Amino acid sequence: MRIVFFGAPGSGKGTQAAILKSTFGIPHISTGDLLRGHVARCTELGRKAKAVMEAGQLVSDDLVLGMLEDRLAEADAKPGFILDGYPRNLVQADALGALLARIGQPLDIVIKLNVPHDAILERCAKRFAEQGRKDDDPEVVRGRLAVYSEQTAPVAAYYSRTGQLVEIDGVGELASVTARILAAVESAA
Ligand code: ADP
Repeated sequence: MRIVFFGAPGSGKGTQAAILKSTFGIPHISTGDLLRGHVARCTELGRKAKAVMEAGQLVSDDLVLGMLEDRLAEADAKPGFILDGYPRNLVQADALGALLARIGQPLDIVIKLNVPHDAILERCAKRFAEQGRKDDDPEVVRGRLAVYSEQTAPVAAYYSRTGQLVEIDGVGELASVTARILAAVESAA
């Protein structure tokens, strides 16, 4: 099963993907987590990405694609994966399509979690207080939502055209949202 989780920052992609990876026995691949790992290890990529991430902007397409390609080549991703945080613009959507065609692993479903922006601002403010992620600072979150609306939201229309997009209401109890996602994945399988 090859799934993309799609939605605004703070829409719950990471949380839901972490729950579902054990259900499906496939890895949760978050480009945000991978990038934060590079920053923490002070790799060359991490040094290039750090300031861009803290400002809430997108890291360059080439760097993220190379990182993703390496990750998808690992053995645990052979049976499938849950991709979270990629693609984030139309260039990345095209690049992903080409990459997955090349490795013979086309996507099964793109799940978009819909959460209103005022609820997102609240969630990120809470995460900022709990985890101190610099890009969860309320000012930066506003900027990330603008980046999402301008660059990432058009990706939904792209997958709507390919017939792979399923929209899920991301508001409510965590378990209810998980149940909605499971139902969508089952009907796509
Ligand atoms: P959230 O799920 O809250 O949006 P992420 O952990 O997915 O946060 O991403 C954090 C940051 O990592 C982004 O704001 C961006 O700077 C960088 N990033 C993650 N994925 C990508 C990507 N596909 N392309 C470019 N930058 C990315």
